[in-house]
Amino acid sequence: MAKVLILGGGTAGLVAGRYLTAEAKRLGIDVDVTMVTASERHYMPPLFMEVALGSAAPHETWAPIKNAEKVYGFKVDIDKVTDIDLANRHVKTESGKVYDYDYLFLGLGVKYVWDKYKGMNEYGYHNFTLDGAVELHEKLFQFKGGKVVIYTPEGPHRCGIYPYEMSLNLRMYFEHRGIEDVEITVVHPDKEPAIGLGPDLIRFFSREMEKARVKFIPNEGHVEITPNKVVTKNAEVEYDLLIKVPPIAIPDVMAFMADDKDPRWAKVKGPDFRYPDYDEVYIVSEASMPPLGLLTAGVPLHNAAIVASTSILHRIHGGYPVAEYAPTLCVGHGYNTGFSGNCEYEWKGNKYKRECYLLFKSPLVRLMKDSFYRGWLDSLRL
Ligand SMILES: Cc1cc2nc3c(=O)[nH]c(=O)nc-3n(C[C@H](O)[C@H](O)[C@H](O)COP(=O)(O)OP(=O)(O)OC[C@H]3O[C@@H](n4cnc5c(N)ncnc54)[C@H](O)[C@@H]3O)c2cc1C
Repeated sequence: MAKVLILGGGTAGLVAGRYLTAEAKRLGIDVDVTMVTASERHYMPPLFMEVALGSAAPHETWAPIKNAEKVYGFKVDIDKVTDIDLANRHVKTESGKVYDYDYLFLGLGVKYVWDKYKGMNEYGYHNFTLDGAVELHEKLFQFKGGKVVIYTPEGPHRCGIYPYEMSLNLRMYFEHRGIEDVEITVVHPDKEPAIGLGPDLIRFFSREMEKARVKFIPNEGHVEITPNKVVTKNAEVEYDLLIKVPPIAIPDVMAFMADDKDPRWAKVKGPDFRYPDYDEVYIVSEASMPPLGLLTAGVPLHNAAIVASTSILHRIHGGYPVAEYAPTLCVGHGYNTGFSGNCEYEWKGNKYKRECYLLFKSPLVRLMKDSFYRGWLDSLRL
């Protein structure tokens, strides 16, 4: 029986575990799927923004990953991976266990590198972790007016639309609370808002930000953050409340798998997310998306996990068609509205070429997005 070991129980790991188990059953092939993940919680991080804005409670952002055993039928061990030995196909954990495998699926996410830019560690708040979101919620609740800056020192970061979506949500949040005197500014390395999603979505965000009186300043290079301003090579922007977006990088336990060209990312080979030096190893995380021309967010990762999983099944079973990287739907909030867009991909030999366009605009998108996140977590609650 082929052994597939999944490391990490986030979006990528859960999709892979679910898909590998269900497809193996459908095909009548014996595959042993085991997940090892450090946290008992499977988080839905987009809900951290809702915690910060007071529309979700902290306990609504996660579900117990162990329940995947009963719901989806694969084994889940809660343990921290401390060493990955690709030559001997061994994975060691904090509790002293050693796992072996025929195929390894690495879904360990990314680390946040807060100290990469001067002042970033010391100042500001964020909602990129649940604790961060709870703290930001308090700060927003105490905020009575003034200057809010949403600052991003570098891209790609987790969820490309986050700074824009957050700025629009903030305007609604303050309006609902009757706080009019707020200046909201997004400082971001994009030349135009959400530039990675193409002209339709640039237009969408630019118009919505104009309606919501959100100012956009392109960031031409970080200089420093002080207790009351963000200094970039092209601007000095004062703030009363700073909301920051962390730089990301490959996790420490996978550092030896970093790309020489850009050590933030994993060395990875397309179209099916394999590690070049070991054909049985697959890397599906935001650290493996940029080198292949893909976006760093949960929906694109969902697709990536299915492509990698079908590639694994193909090799176990023989002749199983490898799924192509499919079009991905992206949905986001606007000011009193929302959008649904689509990105189509074509494999071009060493990268995916992307074309994104707007499908529709509707205030219902907010409800759709929220229902999707909550439904996803509900499926893990017994
Ligand atoms: C505020 C915010 C808003 C977002 N909005 C959107 C959005 O609107 N749309 C969208 O598509 N995406 C969005 N995202 C991005 C999305 O949440 C992520 O892309 C997705 O969660 C990443 O999934 P992952 O499985 O790669 O990583 P993670 O979810 O980080 O999972 C990694 C897993 O690995 C485990 N792990 C880590 N280290 C170890 C170790 N050493 N040993 C064992 N286990 C380990 C962790 O416990 C975790 O379970 C948003 C993210 C944030 C923070």
